[in-house]
Amino acid sequence: TLGWGLIGASTIAHEWMIDAIRAQPGHAVAAVMSGDAQRGAAYATAHGIPASTTSLDELLANPAVDAVYISTTNELHAPQAIAAARAGRHVLCEKPLAMTLADAQAIVAACEGAGVVLGTNHHLRNAASHIAIRQLIRDGAIGQPLFARVFHAVKLPAHLQGWRVHKPDAGGGVILDITVHDADTLRFLLDAEPVEAVAMSQGDGPVEDGVMAVLRFDNGVLAQLHDAFNVAHAGTGIEIHGTAGSIIGRDVMTQRPVGEVLLRTAEGERQIALVPHDLYAHSLAQFAAAVRGEGVPAASGEDGMRSLAAALAVVEASRTGRRTPVRLA
Ligand code: NDP
Repeated sequence: TLGWGLIGASTIAHEWMIDAIRAQPGHAVAAVMSGDAQRGAAYATAHGIPASTTSLDELLANPAVDAVYISTTNELHAPQAIAAARAGRHVLCEKPLAMTLADAQAIVAACEGAGVVLGTNHHLRNAASHIAIRQLIRDGAIGQPLFARVFHAVKLPAHLQGWRVHKPDAGGGVILDITVHDADTLRFLLDAEPVEAVAMSQGDGPVEDGVMAVLRFDNGVLAQLHDAFNVAHAGTGIEIHGTAGSIIGRDVMTQRPVGEVLLRTAEGERQIALVPHDLYAHSLAQFAAAVRGEGVPAASGEDGMRSLAAALAVVEASRTGRRTPVRLA
């Protein structure tokens, strides 16, 4: 059994994670923490959560809380994750892990020091589609990967625009929100590390709301990314092009267990059979296994730190106009 404390009375917990937690045998949501007592109490009632508090210390002192799921705005992740680790609680934290590399590294160090499990909730590597693409690449289905193209320009629904668009210190814009997922997904698919970035961005507000970037990976792959908050009809996808074939993933950069994967080679085109499952429940199941000492989270703290480092390089490249290394220190 595992009791969860929700840090943040968020949309993502409401839409996906509370159900994902409850889908694990023996898991329960024990408490929620919100910055607003009334909203937190209403959220607890609406979701059947036994306790709500505005105090992080109180949540972390609750003996029914063994692990926390952090889905507050991004600038709060680091202090909350570090406090949870010090209180001996396992930590599943939303992406971006933090706003700076130093803060992400401090989270990783605090969890290592406390001996608790740290996971980053990069959902895409949990998808049946991405797991299948990774396996195709590993099996040599497209030969040596040369290029990748990521189509992740979407329209933010009105209720999610708030801090993402208007509070640069809390959100960081489209690059920390979406590019960070692209970086993680590409690392997962390619088994390679991004080493440098070029980028140009758009946006009239305090942060970027659209970006086109190229990441170069240490295996030579060039990956082109298109991420936006203000494009309603593009559809999402990912393509990996290699010396012997291409993999086309359509509608796969999404929270829902949908989309299709095509393999094109000299033998023609074939659709890869997928058995879809809930991405968030998959993430939770791997986290739970890691807590039991049976494996590692789908995306670790180190993965969260590395996806953030790549996103920060894209931010810097787009602001300076320079080719920018992905810095890990
Ligand atoms: P929300 O805006 O829903 O929640 C963030 C914070 O905003 C909450 O902690 C809450 O504060 C406050 N809040 C939420 N709703 C209201 C409201 N109606 N009125 C006033 N305040 C409100 O953000 P998201 O759920 O979209 O994102 C949260 C985190 O999860 C971010 O780090 C984001 O990057 C990540 N995320 C990850 C996804 C993934 O697939 N991995 C998908 C979506 C988001 P309080 O807790 O104080 O009540």
